[in-house]
Amino acid sequence: MGQARRRRLRQKLQPPSRPLWGLRKIVLSLLMLACLPIQSDQLPGTSLAFTEREGLELLNGLLDAVAPDAPQNAFMPPMLKEKLRWVYSTHAQYLPTGHKVVQAIGDYQRDEYGNPNRRTVMAAHFDEQARPVIQIFLSRLAVLVRLQYRIKQGFDKRTEQVFAATLAHEAIHLEGTPSPSPPDRPKAEFLAEEVRTWRKMTLGIIRPLRESGQLVEIDFLQADDVLKQCADPYNCPQFERFVRKQLGME
Ligand SMILES: [Zn+2]
Repeated sequence: MGQARRRRLRQKLQPPSRPLWGLRKIVLSLLMLACLPIQSDQLPGTSLAFTEREGLELLNGLLDAVAPDAPQNAFMPPMLKEKLRWVYSTHAQYLPTGHKVVQAIGDYQRDEYGNPNRRTVMAAHFDEQARPVIQIFLSRLAVLVRLQYRIKQGFDKRTEQVFAATLAHEAIHLEGTPSPSPPDRPKAEFLAEEVRTWRKMTLGIIRPLRESGQLVEIDFLQADDVLKQCADPYNCPQFERFVRKQLGME
């Protein structure tokens, strides 16, 4: 896609007004390091028709639904609430400066079936000024909900759980000292960070959700099962292998 067309596409993307999130401007960022892929079972030959507005409505709806202090989310484990609170409050804190922590990305590159090529729904990094950024790829989000989960309108409880856990996953990536991450981060370092994040999410969010009888996505259940096989969750080669697979690294 040419520069001019890309620019036109970006200008076209006008989300519904939503003061809290202020997702009015699509920001494309160059550094993208951490990601959580959702296993794709896309149907060959199927394409998904959706508009940018629909993508943003879906995102805004999910952001409202998983607000950590909403009464319907009282069941959330403490770590999930803590991480979501961090995302919401950090976003609100930066907003007056013009920086958006949560950024909706219009990613409209399609594969031969008309579906987005990207495998990840969200990604996190620190920008050049060491500010946290969580990117959410609207087209991949729409594929997840409309094609994989086959929900024609809105979203269901499962979507909310996956969205909340994934957002918390990105927040875990953004723990620690903020520093701009080099785009050519060594593979081993990237993998170690993913393993750390998956382990923390699994122990602190997925397992408590599972134990309290909440709906948990199959990939997350598998992560918990693999981790349970190891006597020491901090030294678990099977878990590392699981994460590599999730990331398409093997
Ligand atoms: Zn990740």
